[in-house]
Amino acid sequence: IYQYDDAQSVIDLIDRQFTLGPEKLISITKGFLEEMELGLANYGKPLAMIPTFVSGVPDGSETGTFLALDLGGTNLRVCEVVLNGDKTFSLVQQKFKVSETLKTGEAKALFDYIADSVDAFLTTHATTEYNSPKTAPADVAPDVVYLGFTFSFPVDQTALGAGKILTWTKGFSTKNAVGHDVVQLLQDAFNRKNMHVKCVALVNDTVGTLLTHAYTAGGSHIGAIFGTGTNGAYVEDLEKIKKYNGPANKGGTMIINCEWGAFNNSKSHLPITPYDNTIDRLSINPGFQVFEKFISGMYLGETARQIILSLVDAVPKPILFGGASTGPLNEHYGLDTSFMSKVEDLWIGEDKSEDAFILPPLASVNDSNVGPKVASKLEKIKQVIVEVLGYKPGQVTLRDAAIVRWICFITARRAGLLSGLAVAAILVQTNHAVFPGQSSANIKHPNEIIGVGVDGSLVEHYPNFQQRMRESIATIIGSDTEKRVNIGLAKDGSGVGAALCALQALKQL
Ligand code: ADP
Repeated sequence: IYQYDDAQSVIDLIDRQFTLGPEKLISITKGFLEEMELGLANYGKPLAMIPTFVSGVPDGSETGTFLALDLGGTNLRVCEVVLNGDKTFSLVQQKFKVSETLKTGEAKALFDYIADSVDAFLTTHATTEYNSPKTAPADVAPDVVYLGFTFSFPVDQTALGAGKILTWTKGFSTKNAVGHDVVQLLQDAFNRKNMHVKCVALVNDTVGTLLTHAYTAGGSHIGAIFGTGTNGAYVEDLEKIKKYNGPANKGGTMIINCEWGAFNNSKSHLPITPYDNTIDRLSINPGFQVFEKFISGMYLGETARQIILSLVDAVPKPILFGGASTGPLNEHYGLDTSFMSKVEDLWIGEDKSEDAFILPPLASVNDSNVGPKVASKLEKIKQVIVEVLGYKPGQVTLRDAAIVRWICFITARRAGLLSGLAVAAILVQTNHAVFPGQSSANIKHPNEIIGVGVDGSLVEHYPNFQQRMRESIATIIGSDTEKRVNIGLAKDGSGVGAALCALQALKQL
């Protein structure tokens, strides 16, 4: 809660706290690289840098029909994916509800249900043709259907098609599952029902995103999720994965799942604001997933809510809404990130010209000192505030609307810049880029297009999110390299990606 003489000084202070200049971005990137290196050399570090056992990426020429299974939260998704071999695919899917009883019951019951769902899907939806790829091992029956399993819970993966469940999250507490190989649990259920389905790959969603982008764009280096949470995966040289002592592979590379949401758990790299401390303290996992709390959809709305409240509560005079709050504003996680998206969309509008953005100092904005164009945008934002936050129209001024717009902007700008930073750090790590002033002689393949597959509501829908990522990448590794970065939305990563992972597993067998 602020006590102040001059409202503008409070706004300027918050603005400074949420601003990341070039030097800061570069020093945080160096911290990111240090944590990556620690994670590549040791198990149990904040950046887990998990070897995924996927050694290659597709180039778009792959063919075959595969099943994909996605067990994440409330739904179980079964897909059939047909890879056409020309960077295109077709996908049919069906969702099955996972009941509370199944989530908290015996593992056998849950996996029998999953197998039954796959069986039901095969009966009603799937095409009859399952052309096993030529790469299929000889000892597998010709009519076997291959399946990739996207399992979004913590596992200790020991091979592409094996991994022990470490713990349940997201409301699951199925008995007799933790400590068991999740692929085996699934395969046993298929076998009990005499189904000719073979699960060959256990897939993380970031890896699925990377592979999907690689297939549709003809190559990719990074896969990243910016949705409820955030994480990324990239192709690393095997020799740099110091902690890995499993079998080598021909290509000498392996995809690493960074689990980058945990960057800065030590709280030593990012400029933390009082709002970030509050969010962390009130979260279910204080001290964990600290980077994620700066970036992802689950927390951006909450960050904006905390800033709004601090200005509502400021003394001696409130800076927002005449000191009045509302139900949604008083509720923990009461403000969804999509609210911010709407506000920024209205502000940016169709008119991208700079003059639309000129305002008097925020604290002195009022209905008469903004031009008609700005006033009409602020009027629309005011309506969204009334609808979403539950104020009466008379309680919201255009000045309130302008300040709320600015709060959304600084919060999302910081998130977009940090998202780009994670990508830039990986490009330095993989010798695709150097910091400003460093010799570019060491840049690997200096003319190559660098593929980055992305997925998640934030990167898909938040206005200018990708632009902020690019701004940050250009600042950290220079605009020449930034121009070579091809960021592409890889939708359906958990379906197509799992299918591509199953195919990759057959190649690696
Ligand atoms: P998930 O990551 O769970 O698979 P999504 O990628 O859809 O799912 O991300 C959901 C998150 O995105 C939620 O935290 C939500 O607040 C946020 N979100 C939903 N719609 C939007 C939007 N239009 N703009 C920005 N964020 C959004």
